[in-house]
Formats: sequence, structure tokens, C-alpha cells
Amino acid sequence: MTATFGSALEGKVAIVTGANTGLGQAFARDMAAAGALVACVGRSSMDETLAAIDAPDRTLAIEADLSSLEPIDRIVSEVLAWAGRIDILVNNAGIIRRADALDFTETDWDDVMQVNLKSLFFLSQAVARVMVPEGRGKIVNIASLLSFQGGIRIPSYTASKSGVAGLTRLLACEWASKGINVNAVAPGYVRTNNTKALQEDPERNRAIVERIPAGRWAEASDISGAVLFLASSAADYVHGITLPVDGGWLAR
Ligand code: NAD
Repeated sequence: MTATFGSALEGKVAIVTGANTGLGQAFARDMAAAGALVACVGRSSMDETLAAIDAPDRTLAIEADLSSLEPIDRIVSEVLAWAGRIDILVNNAGIIRRADALDFTETDWDDVMQVNLKSLFFLSQAVARVMVPEGRGKIVNIASLLSFQGGIRIPSYTASKSGVAGLTRLLACEWASKGINVNAVAPGYVRTNNTKALQEDPERNRAIVERIPAGRWAEASDISGAVLFLASSAADYVHGITLPVDGGWLAR
């Protein structure tokens, strides 16, 4: 299902990271449907996403591995060479590693912090250096329920996503006066590769669904509306929030 948002992003130039699958693919598709030109960034083939959008003149695929800062300047310069400006950045790329805190390894700590937090910050910085002279721009970070809660067996994920909510506030405080809106969306439980292990565990799956007031998992398209809202002019006076889209999970 595609979230409809009219032509709210007509002519805007957007970057979506982690756009080859899952939530990022839905954001890229739904932003394109709302009129945006979308640069899809990912570490593997973007073919499925480009086929879903089906508008070759309005999409650009950029292969980039955000497990280091190496591709960041290249991403910005490729988008500028393609479209001449950047209006929207959706920092969606993210990974998770599961192990008891007593056994958690430094590699599982560093890998997650690098993609989920460090690359998110430095890509935001690089893009904001383009947006600030224009006096406008929207940055939407993808946070998590673990921006609000502790969770278990995912220490680096919880630390990184709590960090995303904090950075969202800090960047909003620094950049709101420069015309840039920095906000985050915190998805609840969404059916993607990221959550496959939970979906396939009958006990965890039942416990999750029973606790969600809406009584079901989210589809990726359930999350797009909030991302598109925060990327649109309807959110011009919204700064520094982390907006849960969770079927009521946090209200329990
Ligand atoms: P997914 O595993 O389906 O997709 C993750 C995306 O990140 C992929 O496109 C992947 O290529 C990209 N990515 C990972 N490492 C990368 C790297 N080194 N360089 C470039 N790209 C990289 O997961 P998803 O569920 O679609 O997750 C998207 C975002 O939403 C993540 O930040 C995740 O933490 C967040 N999130 C997901 C859920 C959920 O229930 N699925 C809930 C809350 C938050």
C-alpha cells in the first residue's frame, strides 16, 4: 500500500539512506509519489526501489556503505551534480545486533554506533552545509521505540537510537534559526527484514501483538505519512521532536 500525500513534495530534492529495502524503500517510493526527486542511497542494489517508483528521470541510485564516513562527501556531491540542490534528508539506514549485555562485543557496539549514529550525524552535517546558505531544509531521522525505552539484548541499538533522539534535539536547537527543521520518527514494530527474527518467534510475536493497542504490526507504509509530514512545509514550525508511530505502544 502507498501512503498518499498529494503533491506535498513537488519538485523537492530528497536523499533517503537505506533505500534499497524495508522502511527506506517505502519512504523513497512515497516521497516520489508526492512529487519529490529522490536520491536513493544504499549499500546494495537499488533496483527493486527504482522499479517501485518507476520514474527514472526522478530517481538517482547511489551505492554507499555508511559503515564509514568515506562516502559522505561523495553522496552530497553526486546529488548536487544531479539535481543542483538538496531539500530533504531522511537518515533511515540502520542495523541491530542482539546479545546479552554481559556477552556484548566491541565489534557489535562499534558497528551499530557507526551506522546508526556517527554516519547519521556526519551526513546531516554535510547536507546542512548545503542547506544553510539556502536558508531552508528538512532532516528526518529514523529513531525507534528504543529512543524512549530500554529493551533487552540490544545495548548498542538502544544507545544509538537514544542518541538519535538527543542529536535530533541538539541539531534542531542549532539549525532551527537557519531555516532547517530537524525531527525524527520513531516507528513501532514494523514488518521488515530487521524484525524477521521477532516475527518468526511465535511467543515473542504474540506478546508483541497483544501489547500493541492497534492489535497488529505496522507495515512500512504506515510510517511514511509521518516522514512525509515532517519533510513537508506543513511541518515548518516543528523542531526537535521524535514522533512515535507505534500503534499506541508507548501509550500503554
Ligand atoms: P532493514 O534491515 O530492512 O533495512 C535497513 C536499511 O539500512 C537497508 O536499506 C540497509 O541496506 C541499510 N543499511 C544498513 N547498513 C548500512 C550501511 N553500512 N550502509 C548503507 N546502508 C546500510 O530494516 P528497516 O526495518 O527497514 O529499518 C530501517 C530503519 O528503521 C532503521 O534505522 C531501523 O533501526 C529503524 N526502525 C525499524 C523498526 C522496525 O520495526 N522495522 C522499528 C524502529 C526503527
